Amino acid sequence: MKAQPQASHFIDGEYVEDTAGTVIESIYPATGEVIARLHAATPVIIEKAIASAKRAQKEWASWSPAARGRVLKKAAEIMRERNRELSELETLDTGKPIQETIVADPTSGADSFEFFGGIIATAMNGSQIPLGGDWAYTKRVPLGVVVGIGAWNYPQQIACWKGAPALAAGNAMVFKPSEVTPLGALKIAEILIEAGAPKGVYNVIQGDRETGPLLVSHPDVAKVSLTGSVPTGRKVAGAAASQLKHVTMELGGKSPIVVFDDADIDSAISGAMLGNFYSTGQVCSNGTRVFVDKAIKETFLARLKARTEAILIGDPQDEATQMGPMVSLAQREKVLSYIDKGKAEGATLVTGGGIPNSVTGEGFYIQPTVFADVTDDMTIAREEIFGPVMCVLDFEDEAEVIARANATEFGLSAGVFTADFSRAHRVVDQLEAGTLWINTYNLCPVEIPFGGSKQSGFGRENSAAALEHYSELKTVYVGMGKCEAPY
Ligand code: NAD
Repeated sequence: MKAQPQASHFIDGEYVEDTAGTVIESIYPATGEVIARLHAATPVIIEKAIASAKRAQKEWASWSPAARGRVLKKAAEIMRERNRELSELETLDTGKPIQETIVADPTSGADSFEFFGGIIATAMNGSQIPLGGDWAYTKRVPLGVVVGIGAWNYPQQIACWKGAPALAAGNAMVFKPSEVTPLGALKIAEILIEAGAPKGVYNVIQGDRETGPLLVSHPDVAKVSLTGSVPTGRKVAGAAASQLKHVTMELGGKSPIVVFDDADIDSAISGAMLGNFYSTGQVCSNGTRVFVDKAIKETFLARLKARTEAILIGDPQDEATQMGPMVSLAQREKVLSYIDKGKAEGATLVTGGGIPNSVTGEGFYIQPTVFADVTDDMTIAREEIFGPVMCVLDFEDEAEVIARANATEFGLSAGVFTADFSRAHRVVDQLEAGTLWINTYNLCPVEIPFGGSKQSGFGRENSAAALEHYSELKTVYVGMGKCEAPY
């Protein structure tokens, strides 16, 4: 890889180090090797990052939306030119195969910069409200300094999905990547400077669960956008609420995919595999509860087993590899313990269930795993596993499956496979989720809003809807006559 990040933090247009911070080791998941040592932000670094963002935001917000848009579109162009280099870095950061990162990570980040850079020229327009002689107008204004906190599964995408709408709307961002994947966001910060963003508009600092709260509670921070687990979401939303800050919460899920007996079975299997095995199963919107109509269960399972066993697991830098390791040893341990629970609680192991023999070395590999005969009360059907473990559950009746699909605290996503379009729309109408798919799964282009309901969070990323979460309305009443008072 040509250009590794040069230091732990990127503040005010340059790399910054403070070796007094706790060491964060960047571990390559395919080998277990430490590939970089970084430092968590000290209070000095946090102050520096927020002060720089606060200063830069004033200037940035004074630019015309079209001028800000030009910078974001330029950043998108640079990301596309360096797609291979950025994808290689993403693969080192996460262990995801290059076959995926080259199409799904920097490119998705670039889409985000391009989209928000394009729509912002008109998206911040306000309205004019006639009031007889008087009138009023509204302006959509940025919030100020906003904090982004990322998870480890899509480090570059998350850095861009938060950064692009935030910056387009005229905010400055301080972004803290997950301590597990610290590298990618630094390159995004570098690219924004190269694209012409003022220094300080997008700062990146490293840190862990000790650092996050310092950012969230900082008095100069107007909003926090978190991508992470539900327990972290509760803490962050609680801390932000105590200071009445804006929040966007992109949290976990246990999403259902419902496969009716008239569905194209191979297409439904593709959807279920995409929604369980892509990124080694480490995707928040995964459809990990696959409800299959009893009438097609045997055919579904037989074809699913054959296709799952054909997945090429191996070196993520090999273009042919379809599945890399999990992001960390701890995450693999967690997933293996869920697999043990699935076996102990009586689910039928269809395939997988352990560490693949085909891969040697210290990487955090795991087999794509399918359980059948899963019942709603089993731990593997209730809790987010965040690994390549698919639970197949049977059903016989539409009303029954809708009730069971909704019987969860989560509400991130859902999918339906059927040839009957009336049924498809009827069912998605009743499923409790923020993002739903019919006859496909997990596609999240920047044009469509993405986010959760229930305990999976609130606020939306992507689409024009995201701008509403990074700005607020200012209303101006214009009195055209004399101001009258009753006293
Ligand atoms: P996590 O909740 O452990 O950590 C997320 C981030 O929050 C990290 O950067 C961490 O350092 C930080 N953090 C932890 N405690 C904090 C605190 N008290 N205050 C401030 N920051 C704090 O999640 P993870 O293990 O990195 O990621 C996996 C989780 O993320 C899964 O639950 C997954 O579903 C979810 N996720 C959701 C989406 C989405 O868009 N809905 C996308 C990806 C991942």
